[in-house]
Amino acid sequence: MSEIKPGIKKKIASTRSMTVLTGAGISAESGVPTFRGPGGLWKNHKPEDLATPEAFQRDPALVWQWYQWRRKLFSTKKPNAAHKALVTLENTVEHFTLITQNVDGLHQAAGSTDVITLHGDIWALRCTNCGRTFEDTALDLPPLPKCLACEHLLRPHIVWFGESIDSKKLNTALGACHSCDVMLVIGTSGLVQPAASFAAIAKGAGAKVVEINPEPVLEDCADLSLVGPAAEILPQFID
Ligand code: NAD
Repeated sequence: MSEIKPGIKKKIASTRSMTVLTGAGISAESGVPTFRGPGGLWKNHKPEDLATPEAFQRDPALVWQWYQWRRKLFSTKKPNAAHKALVTLENTVEHFTLITQNVDGLHQAAGSTDVITLHGDIWALRCTNCGRTFEDTALDLPPLPKCLACEHLLRPHIVWFGESIDSKKLNTALGACHSCDVMLVIGTSGLVQPAASFAAIAKGAGAKVVEINPEPVLEDCADLSLVGPAAEILPQFID
């Protein structure tokens, strides 16, 4: 862990407004593979080639097979010490916002409430015709699940590469980046927009930015970089 300068320490300790952005790295120690780390490939397909509207149009059964595999994998995983530490922060800091790019549901399983699920939720399905969404945690979905209302094909309720984020969620997330004193950025490679710009937005609005990542990416922007795995570093940082 790099040395914490007294000015930053004071600002963090006295913060009344904190925004946290998490990425796949926070779930790595729960056993969920990141996209760009080991285990990110499935049957030689890159996630970037499966998580697209074009892939679903071309071969919905293949895309659904991948999502069913991911749902089964996620169902065996539990929140780790980093997910739990964020619940402690939520209960301590007056204005706290958690924005996640993850779709695994582990923040909610840990007890975080009001999570902004920027990229959607793997445990929800959406109709490609009528747009209705359904919560569904079943692990034995049919190969091509159909809408209960109109019987058209369902898709995962996830924001795929090339798709837009729900504007309400995005505006709430941007508002929390603009208004926080401290922004924590945990386990994200910073390659996916618009989340990749959130730290710079918070910094531009006067926040202190703290990054937690074994391979930091925010050198130009972070006031403090805590190098290492989130489940080890975050509980220490809070202490
Ligand atoms: P990414 O795979 O691009 O990058 C993961 C980052 O986590 C890297 O910077 C890596 O150094 C870091 N990391 C690895 N182990 C870590 C640890 N133990 N503690 C802290 N950091 C660690 O992930 P991304 O930036 O979130 O973007 C990829 C997209 O992939 C997102 O849209 C997300 O929705 C999706 N995704 C989600 C999950 C999930 O829900 N768990 C898993 C994989 C990918």
